[in-house]
Amino acid sequence: MEDFAAQDRLNTEIQFLKGVGPKWVAAFGKLGMRRVRDVLYHFPRRYEDRRNLPPIRDLRPGDIATVRGAIRRVESRTLRGGRVVLTAILNDGTGDVSLTWFNQPWIRKKIEGAEDVIAFGTVRDSRGRVLEIGAPELEFPEDEEDVEAFARLTPVYASTEGLPQSILRKAATSAVTYFLDDVAEAIPRRWQKEADVWGVREALRQIHRPDSDEHRLRARRRLVYEEFLLMQLALQMRRRETQQEVGIKFDWESLLQKGGTLFADGKPTDIREQLGIMLPFELTGAQKRVIAEIWGDMRRPAPMNRLVQGDVGSGKTAVAAAAMLAAVRAGYQAALMAPTEILAEQHFLNLHALFDRVGIKVVLLHGKLPAPKKRKASQQAENGEAQIVVGTHALVQDAVSFHKLGLAVVDEQHRFGVLQRAALRQKGRENPDVLVMTATPIPRTLTMTLYGDLDVSVIDELPPGRRPIKTHWKRPSERDQVYAAVKEILVQGRQAYFVCPMISENEKLQAQAAEELFERLRTEDFSEYRVGLLHGQMKSAEKEQVMADFRAHELDILVSTVVIEVGVDVPNATVMTIEDANRFGLAQLHQLRGRVGRGSHQSYCILVADAKTEESITRMSTIRDTTDGFKISEVDLQLRGPGDVAGTRQSGQFDFKLADLVQDTKLLEESRAMAMRILDADPELGQPEHETLLARVKERRMVQAAAVVS
Ligand code: ADP
Ligand code: MG
Repeated sequence: MEDFAAQDRLNTEIQFLKGVGPKWVAAFGKLGMRRVRDVLYHFPRRYEDRRNLPPIRDLRPGDIATVRGAIRRVESRTLRGGRVVLTAILNDGTGDVSLTWFNQPWIRKKIEGAEDVIAFGTVRDSRGRVLEIGAPELEFPEDEEDVEAFARLTPVYASTEGLPQSILRKAATSAVTYFLDDVAEAIPRRWQKEADVWGVREALRQIHRPDSDEHRLRARRRLVYEEFLLMQLALQMRRRETQQEVGIKFDWESLLQKGGTLFADGKPTDIREQLGIMLPFELTGAQKRVIAEIWGDMRRPAPMNRLVQGDVGSGKTAVAAAAMLAAVRAGYQAALMAPTEILAEQHFLNLHALFDRVGIKVVLLHGKLPAPKKRKASQQAENGEAQIVVGTHALVQDAVSFHKLGLAVVDEQHRFGVLQRAALRQKGRENPDVLVMTATPIPRTLTMTLYGDLDVSVIDELPPGRRPIKTHWKRPSERDQVYAAVKEILVQGRQAYFVCPMISENEKLQAQAAEELFERLRTEDFSEYRVGLLHGQMKSAEKEQVMADFRAHELDILVSTVVIEVGVDVPNATVMTIEDANRFGLAQLHQLRGRVGRGSHQSYCILVADAKTEESITRMSTIRDTTDGFKISEVDLQLRGPGDVAGTRQSGQFDFKLADLVQDTKLLEESRAMAMRILDADPELGQPEHETLLARVKERRMVQAAAVVS
């Protein structure tokens, strides 16, 4: 009972806070704030340091200062253009400073004759004798307490038109003065101690009314810690729940022993040997390790929920193939879901060739297939004839029923899709294993945030014999040199990509841009070579044809939009020229560049770009100077922030009030470890001391779940 009463008090409407009143209800409403709780959790965006209280004669231009004195003279003038400037001279016995306001005539009444005024602002030189403070914040103190309340670290809040900072501050001050005792503590004392964080009440007081910078930072630490901890608990509880679920225990060994996996010449063969027959190369150490991890998961009864991260060219296809092979040999179907049709087609071609060698049937299924083909593929998925189905996320997820789906491989590239995973789970009669593959190395902070409920494997080794790609950054004025260099490479029998600039989200316009570049290269700059074109508006069959021609070296040059970003694999193509490269994001450039450097020849990437802003200069030089995907993604995260890096609208995942995934990495690590310790001690948070924590984690899980379906 007591708890409910306590909750209720935080639901008190804002208008009842001392110093607020009904007048401001609408303005607060615009910020989504209605109750005292909202005020407590509307954190300052920054702070003004008003503690510097020098005598007026010591002021220097550029100082940010608080001054106190009496108003001596007030004047207003109308400038040409009709603006009204109000000037007041403030004197503290040591000197004068002039306070000015534009178009705020009502201030005159407030200040005229005032004997004790505090003003805060930035001091600047004016053409007159005395220095000036433009549009200062004012206080008319009644006692020394008012002075103290003003001349301190003062919060600045996100606001809205018509809601002055002074009201926001009054609301916050009143809320922390009268309501803190009603805030329930989510982190029990013993965990606070271990984590070295304050209690929530102290933190809320000091975030709104800091006594010092140190206290402000301690307060922030606690509140950020709490945000991360709730997120981590939510993710880890989900993960533990998945591990409790009943999944499939793939048992290819005993089927093999019963002769159930005979193939080819009728001789039983270990799946390692089968994999050897499929793959034309030796696996790298990293591939072997990751495959062992996956097979280990698959043998266990709990459903697999694993993320494989591997940079472009690290050989994820072979790893996916190993997983699918095991599923099929244990008597199940496997599905591979790609984000685009082109990618699905690429995967299909690759996998079809591999699995053909061991007599496993792979079918392709996506929305742009002709209807009869689509129908046939669906039927084959349904009756089990198709042992492996390769398709697009959407189709596999929504439209297809499977005979016996055991494993879904989700190739997300850099498109993150937590939602597909959830939908897929609900699909199978049995709970299928899920393997998520991502080609973009993600900073660890993002992995922990987006994929905190998954096990993670990293393919951290490239196949042998690769030479690091050499990347150059050239100006558009140097284009002739660039083309001459490309020709030198073509003369040696290699092939080249030209990526046309990203001009529009609109696919038609984008296709047009590609056509223009294609025409120019084909008829002018590279008229002696065979040039092909690939863009998203072409029919599937046309695209397939062009890709086949390029692969077979019937074409020397492929002009393309970013559709080649992923999946295309032509080792003889060793140079990529990216036009207007500054229009692409870092992750995209890294993906694009990954199309070359796939064979044993030295490969090159040429960025043609006129970078003007500091941000684009950073991008271009980062790509030029490093090939390490993890480093690139760290820079990307700093430049763009987590929501954009993840390329996701699932912003609920990053829905923090204070926490910053770039700045607070260490806290994230700490809180993650703490979440594990807490759950080890109390797996369901059922102990009485965790009551509040559990309630808050439940809220957080709802936010995360909502983020997933939006
Ligand atoms: P990605 O991780 O980008 O999907 P792929 O699976 O497409 O990489 O592999 C990239 C290229 O490397 C392909 O040509 C593939 O055949 C080749 N490859 C993969 N693993 C190895 C290996 N262990 N040894 C040699 N080549 C390999
Ligand atoms: Mg791939």
